[in-house]
Amino acid sequence: MYDKGDVVMMKKPHPCGANEWEIIRMGADIKIKCLGCGHIVMLTRREFEKRMKKILKSAKQND
Ligand SMILES: [Zn+2]
Repeated sequence: MYDKGDVVMMKKPHPCGANEWEIIRMGADIKIKCLGCGHIVMLTRREFEKRMKKILKSAKQND
């Protein structure tokens, strides 16, 4: 399961060349920020789950 603060990889990299995104907002919609260029994308949960490939780093891993 993913949560705010996690870093994820999407199926398609961002046009800037990076493929690491931080989840910056969780809600009915999910906002992710490209760690390469800082671009922010808003997706519905369904879109996000379809496009997300894997979680690279969990924010709560060390709890
Ligand atoms: Zn980018």
